Amino acid sequence: MTHSYQHLQRLDAAHHIHPFNDNAELAKKGTRILVKGEGCYVWDAEGNKLLDAFAGLWCVNVGYGRKSMADVAARQMEQLAYYNTFFQCSTEPAIHLSAKLAEISPADLNHVFYSNSGSEGNDTVLRMVRHFWAVQGHPAKNVVIGRHNGYHGSTMAGASLGGMKGMHAQGGLPIPDIHHIDPPFFFADGGEMSEDEYGLAAARRLEEKILALGPERVAAFIGEPIMGAIGVYIPPRTYWPEVERICRKYDVLLVADEVICGYGRTGEWFGSQYFGFTPDIMTTAKGLTSGYIPMGAVLFNERVASVLRHQGGELAHGYTYSGHPVCAAVALENIRILQDEKIVETCRTDTGPYLAERWRELGEHPLVGEARIAGMVGALELVPDKGVRRFFEERGKVGALCRNIALKNGLILRATYDSMLLSPPLVISRDEIDELFEKAWKSLNETA
Ligand code: PLP
Repeated sequence: MTHSYQHLQRLDAAHHIHPFNDNAELAKKGTRILVKGEGCYVWDAEGNKLLDAFAGLWCVNVGYGRKSMADVAARQMEQLAYYNTFFQCSTEPAIHLSAKLAEISPADLNHVFYSNSGSEGNDTVLRMVRHFWAVQGHPAKNVVIGRHNGYHGSTMAGASLGGMKGMHAQGGLPIPDIHHIDPPFFFADGGEMSEDEYGLAAARRLEEKILALGPERVAAFIGEPIMGAIGVYIPPRTYWPEVERICRKYDVLLVADEVICGYGRTGEWFGSQYFGFTPDIMTTAKGLTSGYIPMGAVLFNERVASVLRHQGGELAHGYTYSGHPVCAAVALENIRILQDEKIVETCRTDTGPYLAERWRELGEHPLVGEARIAGMVGALELVPDKGVRRFFEERGKVGALCRNIALKNGLILRATYDSMLLSPPLVISRDEIDELFEKAWKSLNETA
């Protein structure tokens, strides 16, 4: 460290506009400056060691500090730091990664278009689903349905497909011909229904919307298998198969936004496999490179890809860094690690079930109304009256307090309103899960 912590904070406050922050507020408080990561831990510039139960931002699936990731990036930079994939060109890492993604992806989602992020991937999705129908003679089949409070990124298309009101309010969103239905959130909305009944009822909102708009107008439905940012809403088992049935019935393309769930988060390679449905298109990013370098990949099935390849002539869409060779080399190494170390399998059969057990123990805390978890992603819903499915009057205050107390106790959890969100590196060990439990329990006690 050549600069003092306060000096760095002052520079940051003077010159750096942070995403998803009240920047005036942040400048007063000062940013937390992270300097190092190893396994499931990060260190800040003041020397505090923190157990990162949020994997950065749902990203660092293989854990921090992997030297082999840095080595492949350095090797590729020395060999060929950049080349485009626009003008009849490709690079070896991009080719190998495309084949690898075809190998690990479900069903016939064997064709990939590269972006730099999840948001850009969803821009690609919006363009491509409309193009798909237009070139087949159905230009009016251009409506895409998403969900209120869904999160699909922060670009114009990503934020429009998402259903965050606060985002729509800034910058003239949403883009026309994007509609939203209510998401499945049993805790708040399930009433007297069983979870299975509720899952079907929530899915049927999609059918109602399709019928209201006219099936001939609806191009696609997009959803996160588990809605992450809004609070880890894990839908009942009945939800996604019913959504799939409805999409097939009305010939509506089904898009799974796997930016969080992809690459092992649920203990399956993809969230769609966890819930037992097959999308036509998948958006992926984050876990593709474990966040070591920015990259996204949109996967298309044979039906969609054959239209994109063979109809409509030139695909007037792409990014300078689509298939960037250094990013592709890092993604390949990331997938090699996931496969060779059997990380997804271990999450499914060993550490995932153990984490679920301990997470449910946290659910017994008087402050927790529900402990939900699927593989390595979960939430604790903090409530005013245990046993009653009701939120705090002033939403978010207790969650923020708990997050700050957890930080002080050396644990990073994210808070959305009063949901404490969990998404640790997939390599978390049983001992680290125990540590997470102790720190979370202590933090709940101090919050209550
Ligand atoms: N889709 C989902 C489900 C996400 O959770 C996110 C980011 O958290 C995105 C898309 C946007 O990805 P990015 O921030 O890489 O643009």
